[in-house]
Amino acid sequence: MNKQNGTFNQEYARQLDQNDPLARYRDEFYIKEGTIYFDGNSLGLLSKRAEQTLLDLLHSWKTLGIDGWTEGDNPWFYLSESMGDQMAPLVGATNEEVIVTGSTTSNLHQLTASFYQPGGKKTKILTDELAFPTDIYALQSQLKLKGMDPSEHLVKVKSTDGHTVDEDDIIQAMSDNIALIVLPSILYRSGQILDMERLTKVAHKRNILIGFDLCHSIGSIPHQLSEWEVDFAFWCNYKHLNGGPGAVGGLYVNKRHFGKDPGLAGWFSSRKDKQFDMEHNLTPAEHAGAFQMGTPHVLSMAPLIGSLSMFNEAGIEQIRSKSLQLTGYMLDLIDHKLKDYGFTVRNPMEDEKRGGHIFLEHPEAARICKALKSHQIIPDFRSPNGIRLAPVALYNTFEEVWLVLEKLKQIMDDEEYKKFENKRGVVA
Ligand SMILES: *Cc1c(COP(=O)(O)O)cnc(C)c1O
Repeated sequence: MNKQNGTFNQEYARQLDQNDPLARYRDEFYIKEGTIYFDGNSLGLLSKRAEQTLLDLLHSWKTLGIDGWTEGDNPWFYLSESMGDQMAPLVGATNEEVIVTGSTTSNLHQLTASFYQPGGKKTKILTDELAFPTDIYALQSQLKLKGMDPSEHLVKVKSTDGHTVDEDDIIQAMSDNIALIVLPSILYRSGQILDMERLTKVAHKRNILIGFDLCHSIGSIPHQLSEWEVDFAFWCNYKHLNGGPGAVGGLYVNKRHFGKDPGLAGWFSSRKDKQFDMEHNLTPAEHAGAFQMGTPHVLSMAPLIGSLSMFNEAGIEQIRSKSLQLTGYMLDLIDHKLKDYGFTVRNPMEDEKRGGHIFLEHPEAARICKALKSHQIIPDFRSPNGIRLAPVALYNTFEEVWLVLEKLKQIMDDEEYKKFENKRGVVA
């Protein structure tokens, strides 16, 4: 970015907004008057389209009753599949490889139950020591269910700096006794992007299956899961995809695994035309739909219908391009304004390695976040000393990035954060 003098004033930020091809989407969101919301990587905001499709769904219930399963604009019986079609472009997969179902945690359970088949020397699961706790808990319990001791059979690749994981170290750890690898596409704290294509290639050469947790990458960066031949993936839809609190999640299974029995079966794993035959022998769907279990949480899927229409209209490449511009601009401002205040930037600096948020560390992070909140700026505190700032392409502006950095500098200059306790809340 151009580092001339003018680059750091508010006028420059406004110019960037004027030239932003995605600017029109901001008006489609409910943004609380006077607030700057930089927490879209934890819970995305409500859009008018998402609100409308939720209301439409309630209307179909109101007017159709039981017939809503097969009638109306979005028949509930096929909604997981039709939403999967809408999501496929976001993960770079065919429609049949994607299904909207479950949650991150339940989908990881399902996929591990299906793909972790220890045998002979291959008994271990490989992950990384910075993984999100729910992923670790799920893997530990899946190991126990197969009679394996997690302390021996769950291998966690070490981080050398406490923030990022070196892909060479992951590759090094892909030894003969690894049966399955589960890694994040983007690390939830530092925002580091792992090279999924490279890791998949090496894993397959060593006869290991590999899956990714896309919670922080879905709706934020493009993926080519089919082309990269990733075996499976799973994610939530309430972060960058703005599907609402507790939105139904999603999963992807590569087509070469179609026909594989789901580890955790239920009647929605069934081929659709067979489901109501009510037989006691399951005929699984011949696509990713086989990894569903029970009745979909239709009301928690409805906002996604509207939200996904926005992503498909705007295009994930365009969204990524603005996101990189926003975080790049923020990094420039941090470098310019926040040098002498004890902040450390912990996200990777390179575009190819940097996800959709900036991760700052500071010993006073908890109360700096509280001070920001007292000014209606919503960051995301991560214990013990992390501040995540997510300027989101569809609804945040360059001027907001500028304003947040101005405020942060002022809070540090005035030591305003000292008015608050350096302690986290229950949800943080
Ligand atoms: C948000 C997140 C989760 C959350 O899982 P849920 O089942 O939706 O509660 C899991 N893993 C990662 C990496 C996340 O960022």
